[in-house]
Amino acid sequence: MKKATKKEILEIQKQFVQRYSDAVSELQYKNAYELVIAVALSAQCTDKRVNIITPALFEKYPTVQDLAKAELEDVKKFLNSCSFFNNKAKNIVAMAQRVTQVYDGEIPMNEKDLQTLAGVGQKTAHVVMIEYMGANLMAVDTHVFRVAHRLGLSDDKTAKATEATLVKKFKTDLHVLHQAMVLFGRYICTAKNPKCDECFLTEFCKSKASFKV
Ligand code: SF4
Repeated sequence: MKKATKKEILEIQKQFVQRYSDAVSELQYKNAYELVIAVALSAQCTDKRVNIITPALFEKYPTVQDLAKAELEDVKKFLNSCSFFNNKAKNIVAMAQRVTQVYDGEIPMNEKDLQTLAGVGQKTAHVVMIEYMGANLMAVDTHVFRVAHRLGLSDDKTAKATEATLVKKFKTDLHVLHQAMVLFGRYICTAKNPKCDECFLTEFCKSKASFKV
């Protein structure tokens, strides 16, 4: 597949930033505790599903201290419509326990400490920091990966390598670009039947022939 030129990369960046400058995650949360839990639950699960699950979970466990004291089997009941709910339940309870014991009940908002929490890897840490503090970081989920490849921004085989490539190519506004590529991929450049007739980036698309635009 053809690669985007430097000029094209700049124009794609400009278009995304202009159109999505106010974009935020579709996950619903009220504070850092709820955000970390919502992002952790959203792995391999849709934001829509997570938003159905979390209100009852946060009503039962309104603070990180409440969740730290929870019975694992009770937590599983709230999560059972989510993929990998057994592991996710274990992880969020362990995460709450560590936040209570080590971080005085405050979610540590830096990449290194976030990644010491159960179930939080680099991608989750980045998504949390992008959303909560507008950090200049990239995170590559299935939507960002697909969009990056269709626009010729990356030909990398893994999400991690794609992230590194996008950081190198875009450099700035990464938090907006992340949110933009997620929403663009979710609603316009969808995996099946992308809405190429509504797309504002057709002139840069390297895949459009396959979608008969
Ligand atoms: S033209 Fe279609 S395939 Fe290409 S970026 Fe736009 S929506 Fe995606």
